[in-house]
Amino acid sequence: MTTPDLFFDSARCLIGGQWVAPLAGETLGVENPSTGLEIARIARGQAADIDRAVTAARAALNSDWGQLPAADRGRLLSRLGTLVRNRADDLARIEALDVGKPLKQARADALALARYLEFYGGAADKITGETLPYLSGYTVYTLREPHGVTGHIIPWNYPMQIIGRSVSAALCMGNAAVIKPAEEACLTALAFGQLALEAGFPPGAINIVPGLGEEAGAALTAHQGVNHISFTGSLAVGQLVQQAAAKNVVPVTLELGGKSPQIVFDDADLDRALPFLVNAGIQNAGQTCSASSRLLVSRHIHDELLDRLAARYRALRVGPALADLDLGPLVSARQKQIVAGFLADIGSAEIAARGTLSDEATGGHYLAPTLVSRVDPGHRLAQDEIFGPVQVVIPFDDEADAIAIANGTDYGLVAGVWTRDGGRQMRLARAIRTGQIFINNYGAGGGVELPFGGVGKSGHGREKGFEALYGFSVLKTVAAWHG
Ligand code: NAD
Repeated sequence: MTTPDLFFDSARCLIGGQWVAPLAGETLGVENPSTGLEIARIARGQAADIDRAVTAARAALNSDWGQLPAADRGRLLSRLGTLVRNRADDLARIEALDVGKPLKQARADALALARYLEFYGGAADKITGETLPYLSGYTVYTLREPHGVTGHIIPWNYPMQIIGRSVSAALCMGNAAVIKPAEEACLTALAFGQLALEAGFPPGAINIVPGLGEEAGAALTAHQGVNHISFTGSLAVGQLVQQAAAKNVVPVTLELGGKSPQIVFDDADLDRALPFLVNAGIQNAGQTCSASSRLLVSRHIHDELLDRLAARYRALRVGPALADLDLGPLVSARQKQIVAGFLADIGSAEIAARGTLSDEATGGHYLAPTLVSRVDPGHRLAQDEIFGPVQVVIPFDDEADAIAIANGTDYGLVAGVWTRDGGRQMRLARAIRTGQIFINNYGAGGGVELPFGGVGKSGHGREKGFEALYGFSVLKTVAAWHG
């Protein structure tokens, strides 16, 4: 069976605790990227639907949801986490069919969503204000309050993980959420909504309006009733979102793209490094913001490591999501075309190795993972986000050269450093411009506890961990004179 077993009506929006048809009555097709066939319809929400959702969120803040003690909000989040965990297999299958990711990755995403809900469920009653020393006769303290209505614009590559990290942190602080999932990946967002109803969230605390970015997305970012926007997606759309937020003078968190390097020195433990080096590039068919698309390798070990990387690449297998191989298809024909465009112009670089398409890889948007060597650091392949299963290998001469190449893009999201030299580890941890840096390991996705976000064109603001809770709340200072 290659159709998802849905336990909700996919063609509706969740607004004010009810599943409702979009006002204009229009729907969009959902394509299975593994086959190219339509598997469901989703609502094509528009500005009027967003307006209803924002109104419902505001009403929730003014009634049951707004009155709920922090411990009870936490209990609801934890209960939802349990429901998600119990249905991880169902959610994984839906996600695999909707966005083409191999089942084991989709299941990991479902469990990550559960983990976010559990983490923020536990945190809800542990965020406190402070008392501050001031003039005699005064008591001064701070309160952490919700922004109000938070808008969440979600990309297609990790829908469950990104809903988990942004929506559960916002709810933890008592905000009411309006979610606009990506048009390519709405089904698990809607499943999340259904499970939230089953968990007992009050009407309007969580609202979901599927639709196109330029319609529902733009309407959400422009809406004057929205008090905070959390956007995860491309740089180009992030710039539009920031402009819209500026007009309404509301805070915005931008989680954008990356060109994350892993830097391999000649004293690295290559046996340990190898699986991380490759997996960080091909996981989710390279459609990962924190994908390590640049491998910077010391010239002393360059040829040896390139051989070993190439051997791994040749062993990678690509097939339909349900076949659960190393890689699935890309999410859409458009995404495949973008990635193929990069590979059509590699300049003086060389294709070092490709993975293999399985016999079942027909009809969908399949592309063999590709390792490109001897790439000039200034080439487009080494500068721009490819967002597909392509890694480039760039040799470097010494530590200073490695730092200069690593910092030589507009982005700064994640980096990895492979070396046994403790001093070098510490120097690079400071020298690399990035939001996260991993030493002798790599991988941001699973670390619910670890603050995450970019510098430069990778965005600003932090999600995950306790840090996210400061972003999803606003500090009020109370100064009381009592004599
Ligand atoms: P995208 O920017 O095309 O779309 C993201 C979301 O924005 C979708 O929901 C889309 O409908 C919406 N959107 C599109 N136009 C809009 C508009 N005018 N106004 C408001 N919303 C609009 O990105 P994508 O292709 O879905 O995702 C891939 C990108 O996301 C990559 O660049 C990737 O690096 C980035 N990403 C970043 C992170 C991170 O945490 N830094 C995580 C995942 C993905």
